Amino acid sequence: MGGPGFRHDQELFIAAQVRSDRLRQLFHQSVSAVFGSFLAAIMLCGLCWERVDHRIMFGWIGLLSISSLLRILMFATYFRSPDNERTPQRWERTYWVTLMLSAGIWGAGALAIMPANDLLAQALVMLFAVGMSVSAVSCYSSYRYMTLASIGLVLLPCTTWLLFQPSALQVGMAFAVLVFASFVASATRKLSEALETAFRLTREMEQAHHISTHAAQTDELTGLKNRRAFFERAQLLLNDCQKKRLPLCAVMLDMDHFKHINDTYGHQVGDQVLRQMGVVISTCFRDTDVCGRMGGEEFAILLPDTSIEVALEIAEQLIRSISGVMSGPVHRISASVGVAAMEMHDNDLQSLMNNADKALYRAKARGRNQVVVSE
Ligand code: GH3
Ligand code: MG
Ligand code: MG
Repeated sequence: MGGPGFRHDQELFIAAQVRSDRLRQLFHQSVSAVFGSFLAAIMLCGLCWERVDHRIMFGWIGLLSISSLLRILMFATYFRSPDNERTPQRWERTYWVTLMLSAGIWGAGALAIMPANDLLAQALVMLFAVGMSVSAVSCYSSYRYMTLASIGLVLLPCTTWLLFQPSALQVGMAFAVLVFASFVASATRKLSEALETAFRLTREMEQAHHISTHAAQTDELTGLKNRRAFFERAQLLLNDCQKKRLPLCAVMLDMDHFKHINDTYGHQVGDQVLRQMGVVISTCFRDTDVCGRMGGEEFAILLPDTSIEVALEIAEQLIRSISGVMSGPVHRISASVGVAAMEMHDNDLQSLMNNADKALYRAKARGRNQVVVSE
């Protein structure tokens, strides 16, 4: 853990998470925009009712209804889909297409209803278009270019038209809108950067927390749970088995003559043997079992929903696997094992472990390299 490759993978993982966070933010923040932009168009038509050709208004509202329906359909599909299908790969393009369609219709329609000789109506249309672009910042800010593109599509048709009109008032209006728009655009950049930073920091903190929790619970040498983490998990498992009235067995293991291995081949070879023990133990047991290094060359495993007969079989298989391990110069490795079952009236983790421990010491006394079941 911790090499440059690992760090690169972690960065890619966080970048992918941030992208998903931005997509989620986009969808949650912009539902109201669908209704808002539709209502704004209706209101604008109502205000300009006396001044504009009604056929153009109906055409515009008709097209907007279609694009709004498409967007509602997209939102409904997104919110109904399971979490694992809400990926940026699947949704970003669809979002872009529907948003550009509806923003394009909005901007083109606003230009179409703009009455050529009515300054008041022109100002009204521009007021709504500017309002729409300000709302775009609040809705699509996690995607900067989406925000900018939708603002452009809504504002530019009318603004460009105004810019080429003869009256200074119209040109002035267009300039004012462009200045407003430039402020909005710069706010968009700051907002999307701030959002992205917030998402990234949150994900990095989550990851750091995950890594440090894992490190605090793991025995570095064997990769198994350390003593503290073992007892924490063991207590939860015991409570769970008692609640569900399931049998629970404990297995205690101590390497035989480990001191001799250290003394003969050195501490580093001893460490290597312990590392291999970690591998053997984690492959011998199920994911639901709890395996830990109690300290030194002693290990403990809890087997939920397991009868004592099955636990004995598993422990014997474990002893056979250990005797097959060869680690460098060490050719004979063995371990002694004690097995105990939780008794129904006995709700104490300590006494279960003690029983397994006593069985273990009988296995040592009987000549090691064997399993003994607690009486
Ligand atoms: P027995 O069969 O009676 O269990 O004999 P043993 O030699 O295994 O028993 P003992 O408890 O006397 O020795 C355990 C040895 O394990 C002593 C200690 O040096 C060694 N040991 C404990 N922790 C580590 C470790 O992390 N690395 C290495 N290499 N050795 C360790
Ligand atoms: Mg030992
Ligand atoms: Mg020991």
